[in-house]
Amino acid sequence: MGLQESEALDVERIREDFPVLQREFDGQQVVYLDNAATTQTPKRVVEAISEYYYEYNANVHRGIHQLSQEASIAYEEAHDTIADLVGADGREETVFTKNTTEAENLVAYSWGLNELGPGDEVVLTEMEHHASLVTWQQTAKKTGADVKYVPVTDEGHLDMEAAKELITDDTKLVSAVHVSNSLGTVNPLAELADVAHDHDALIFGDGAQAVPNRPVDVKDLDVDFYAFSGHKMAGPTGIGALYGREEILEDMEPYLYGGDMIRKVTYEESTWNDLPWKFEAGTPSIAQGIAFAEAAEYIDDVGLDNIRRHEERLTEYALDRLAAFDDIEIYGPTDPTERGGLVGFNLDGVHAHDLASILNDHAVAIRAGDHCTQPLHDKLGVAASARASFYLYNTTDEIDKLVEGLEDARDIFA
Ligand code: PMP
Repeated sequence: MGLQESEALDVERIREDFPVLQREFDGQQVVYLDNAATTQTPKRVVEAISEYYYEYNANVHRGIHQLSQEASIAYEEAHDTIADLVGADGREETVFTKNTTEAENLVAYSWGLNELGPGDEVVLTEMEHHASLVTWQQTAKKTGADVKYVPVTDEGHLDMEAAKELITDDTKLVSAVHVSNSLGTVNPLAELADVAHDHDALIFGDGAQAVPNRPVDVKDLDVDFYAFSGHKMAGPTGIGALYGREEILEDMEPYLYGGDMIRKVTYEESTWNDLPWKFEAGTPSIAQGIAFAEAAEYIDDVGLDNIRRHEERLTEYALDRLAAFDDIEIYGPTDPTERGGLVGFNLDGVHAHDLASILNDHAVAIRAGDHCTQPLHDKLGVAASARASFYLYNTTDEIDKLVEGLEDARDIFA
């Protein structure tokens, strides 16, 4: 397969939107396969940032003057665009945060510290990212609640039978990664939501690796909270979103106090602003928020089903090519339709960091490490893994370059 052979997307055209993909190192064009960490940014998203700074830079919410009004409208409407992207009912259900991590912490501080106590349980999965795992582990410690983990099977799936046993009337919250950033597994979030709700527990979906590359509808998933990051979906860093069911967010205490999040303040008391501003204290990331919405429109214009299909094809191709190595261990489900666009693996006898370094000599950018899933790596019995992750601009030719680099690494370490 070459560039034009992907039926789902006109990748050649799409690549023109991303100038960084033209970078060369020692005469070799960069092959960017580190998209699960951060995706590249298309011109129109960068332009949305410069347009804000060149044409209507001002603080939001509080200004009567024209520039502030323009900035306020753009920033506020960005919430509507992000709400639309994931099927939320509107800006009231869409809080802008710094990233997925902050969204998890917002709920942990605001809901968890107030609602959890001794005897309560939080159920996580063994494949949680530290953003969720550490946050709920520490919140449980502070409140006296217990944490339980839904096991991952040898095939890289969640053990749903075990989940049904672990989630009980003591469970107050289930937090589950929608698409695993280490295994690639697409988890049955809607099914987990059903189980959680049968026991009157809430469910938090970590959508950091899902929203960028597949249609997501929080109402269809029936989740109570859902989080994702702009920088993993062709948007800027410093911005992400927390979806929360409106009636739950209404009942929650603010997470940060200060300007903009209040309605009325006296020396003795304060009352809170409407949603979502109640959770957005201080001057927000205005340019990033506006550009986040531009990124959402960009991926929506390309078509999230097209992106998903394209990633599935790339993943299938990568799995096939890597399967030809008898000394590579691949983690996660074998069926590309059951996983997101990333492949975690180890080459026998070569540390993942050495692998990433040799691939870097080939201008191939991958990630090596524990990918913020240390307990999962402990369970897999490895300290680190290599991870190639794809996005809408990647091609099978680039996967061939990855494979050439791997062959080189094997020769060097043989
Ligand atoms: N969850 C998952 C599944 C992730 O892949 C990541 C990023 N690696 C995060 C959470 C945290 O995202 P951020 O660093 O943007 O907060």
